[in-house]
Amino acid sequence: MVSVVVPIYNEEELILRFHEAVAGALKGVVDDWEIVYVNDGSTDSSLELLKELQALDPHVVVVELSRNWGHMGAILAGLQTARGRAVVLMDGDFQDPPEVLPELIEAWRDGAEIVVGVRRSRKESRKILAALFPLFYRVLGSLSDYPIPLNAGIFSLMDRKAVDALLAMQEKNRYLPGLRAWIGYRNSIVYYDRQDRAGGDGKLTFVSRIKYAMDAITSFSYKPLRLSFALSGFSGSVAAVLALSMFVAAAPITSAALGIAAAVFFMGSLLLLTLGLLGEYIGRVYDEVRNRPISLISRVHRAEIETATQVELMAMQGGVFPSEPGSYPDRKAIKAA
Ligand code: UDP
Ligand code: MG
Repeated sequence: MVSVVVPIYNEEELILRFHEAVAGALKGVVDDWEIVYVNDGSTDSSLELLKELQALDPHVVVVELSRNWGHMGAILAGLQTARGRAVVLMDGDFQDPPEVLPELIEAWRDGAEIVVGVRRSRKESRKILAALFPLFYRVLGSLSDYPIPLNAGIFSLMDRKAVDALLAMQEKNRYLPGLRAWIGYRNSIVYYDRQDRAGGDGKLTFVSRIKYAMDAITSFSYKPLRLSFALSGFSGSVAAVLALSMFVAAAPITSAALGIAAAVFFMGSLLLLTLGLLGEYIGRVYDEVRNRPISLISRVHRAEIETATQVELMAMQGGVFPSEPGSYPDRKAIKAA
């Protein structure tokens, strides 16, 4: 079985169209599949639509979260619920194109344990984001202590081994593309063209994006902390030059007061910068120590299949497990017996 995990937050405009596209892409490619939609506390009719979809299509699993937990929280709940031998992660807004799914699955069948979707191109109608994404990947690429494939988001397929490895990690501030690279396993890449959102507005706030970017940098690099050393070297040298020039200056410099004030503020800003960076790390250490969950599931809706459990069957067969799935008696008959 292949599972597809999709986080959903206020996507009522797209859900039905999206489901049709994903189901269409999977049909004929895999025999057994489930699509796990994680409703991340939507305030529109997304949850109702998903529940209707689930009643109509037994491939659909709907996970209800206790509130809005954000993209990463929703994805984690989906990973916890998915039962497939392989799990695909993708956004529910057509930015990760469903047509690419067969390629991901094929690469997995060819032996890859993690198949990463890497963006060959990106359509992004939001101009600020379009400018910031390459900058972010460049900064992360140059700071990261561990090589992380750039231009890759959550869109990927992971074998059960890799999913279990990710789930076993207790980190709270998760940068999934980084962790996915860090755990290792046999990797392969599928290139795709990232689309623009098919409808509705982007759901992630600017602040949450900054937080995510800081998660990425802080969880894969200590270099920002070391900036303090570089800055202290710089300010030490400036102080030495100034101290020496005191002895050679012939007359009191009239604008010296202004210069000193500027220097004080400049030093202050450097100190605050390093304190701020320190704070980013300490805050994350605090998150880890408190060990709060990343998200909470309130309900899972999935198709009820009226077959007996393995234990009941074993008992009925005198410890022998039936080889023919068609011969499974149903649960009611067993209870009656
Ligand atoms: N999403 C979510 N919880 C949130 C925000 C977003 O589950 O708090 C979902 C959203 O429905 C979409 C995916 O996460 O399927 C990516 O969100 P979005 O498209 O807004 O992010 P962007 O593509 O703009 O980075
Ligand atoms: Mg999107």
